[in-house]
Amino acid sequence: MAKGKVLGGSSTINTMALRIGAPEDYDHWAELGNEGWNWLNVTKYFDKVDETIKTTDYTSTSPFRNVLGKAVEELGIDPNSCGGYGYKDAPIQTYEGQRYSQAKAYLSPIKDRKNLCVVTEKIVTGLWFTQNGTIQGVTINDSPTTSKRIKSTKEVILSAGAINTPKLLMLSGIGPRGQLQKLGIPTKVNLPVGQNFMDHMVIPIMLQGIMPDLDFEEPVTLKDQIDIYCSNKTGSDLSTIGISNYQGYINTGNSITWSVPNQLPNVELLHYGFNPQEPILNITLNRFGFMDDYQNQLKKINTNRSLLIILINILHPKSRGSIELEDTHPLTPPKINPNFLSHPDDIKTILQGVQFVERLLQTWSLSGFSIIDLGLSHCSQFEFGTPTYWECYSRTFAMSIFHASGTCKMGNDSSQSVVNPRLQIWGQPKIRVVDSSIMPELITGHTNFPVGMIAEKAADIIKEDYQKLTFKVV
Ligand SMILES: Cc1cc2nc3c(=O)[nH]c(=O)nc-3n(C[C@H](O)[C@H](O)[C@H](O)COP(=O)(O)OP(=O)(O)OC[C@H]3O[C@@H](n4cnc5c(N)ncnc54)[C@H](O)[C@@H]3O)c2cc1C
Repeated sequence: MAKGKVLGGSSTINTMALRIGAPEDYDHWAELGNEGWNWLNVTKYFDKVDETIKTTDYTSTSPFRNVLGKAVEELGIDPNSCGGYGYKDAPIQTYEGQRYSQAKAYLSPIKDRKNLCVVTEKIVTGLWFTQNGTIQGVTINDSPTTSKRIKSTKEVILSAGAINTPKLLMLSGIGPRGQLQKLGIPTKVNLPVGQNFMDHMVIPIMLQGIMPDLDFEEPVTLKDQIDIYCSNKTGSDLSTIGISNYQGYINTGNSITWSVPNQLPNVELLHYGFNPQEPILNITLNRFGFMDDYQNQLKKINTNRSLLIILINILHPKSRGSIELEDTHPLTPPKINPNFLSHPDDIKTILQGVQFVERLLQTWSLSGFSIIDLGLSHCSQFEFGTPTYWECYSRTFAMSIFHASGTCKMGNDSSQSVVNPRLQIWGQPKIRVVDSSIMPELITGHTNFPVGMIAEKAADIIKEDYQKLTFKVV
């Protein structure tokens, strides 16, 4: 599970594709009891993020982008959509050909402020409480064997992400009583911390083909790419994200129109195209974590053929996983159980997504491409291309696109959620959580800008809370 352990967190290492979700996503958050989080309320915070983080509109000039656009058009889907359905080129989080992370956008401009102190290369090891259980601050590792306390004067805000925020809370006695008891941690507040783990899970469908206008291009080496980038910062694959910002949003509930009135898209299609002998194929396959055997087969095919990898993303998965403590040592990584494909509806959605890809391959534009049979030995009892084969295949290749969230779910009921709609921990209002872990449901998009929105809204909530307090004192 990749995570950015760096200033700016995962925004410093992510794919940079911007997709904030649909208004209905946030209206649904509010319907679940999260007052103040409907679309009308959160729009102004998205606007603030938009004003702060620089982005670039970008349409890949790759022939793959071209051919995909033509294929979806043949299916009657808008290839340059402006709304929630159809295919479009998502803007990317770059400025002048370089990544524009949250750290660059928010921290760099204020780095010299007297009231800001950023400590790097230290790890928060737990929360620090008084004897009577009032939050005092946090502890950090000062050296491999010693720790230090950092005192807070008002409250503690945890933004360690959907994996480490629940870990820190549980280490400090805020979490499911049963689990804490097993590890001998006294429970301060019994809450479903670490439960409701959600993520966007994808399966990759590997296609091979030959397209004349594509395959007679001279391969561009990595060195060429670096030279182009160093001379003008644009025009090189190194300053863009290839065709992975060309994204399709469809609803598989209707296999003719691929959209269903009054229902959100349920599947996203993401794409990676590789010309023959593509230098970055190796990097991508490693990033996907494919086994050597599959990597070697794909590299062999790519010596003289193009590869197109289509990721099928379940936008609204019903499967839920968990984050649990392995032991009580603050430096031990927690157990991550994504529990992908544990809900039968998710399998159903994936199979419908596969049908969509098969339909795409029947178009004239993509007729030169076919699905690669990787000869999965443990799926050999199933006939290639049948639903049982695809289920077996999906369980083999299921992977995350790193939108982990929901592990400190926001809600209006302390038995079902961890923070209230003002992002305060139930029973410990001087601790707030401000990161992707508070999301009650995943959105029809990608999570980075929504986390920015959560942070902008949190800033206003906090200002509001302290203004109220000041008012009372006066
Ligand atoms: C490889 C990858 C690709 C992605 N692609 C996209 C994309 O294209 N578009 C998109 O919208 N989203 C994308 N995402 C998701 C998006 O980046 C995340 O949802 C978002 O960054 C989550 O923000 P966060 O603040 O919740 O957590 P994080 O970004 O994980 O930030 C947590 C921070 O806390 C720090 N931290 C954690 N534990 C401790 C500790 N104990 N002590 C001190 N510091 C600690 C970490 O170092 C990190 O800086 C991607 C994510 C990844 C990993």
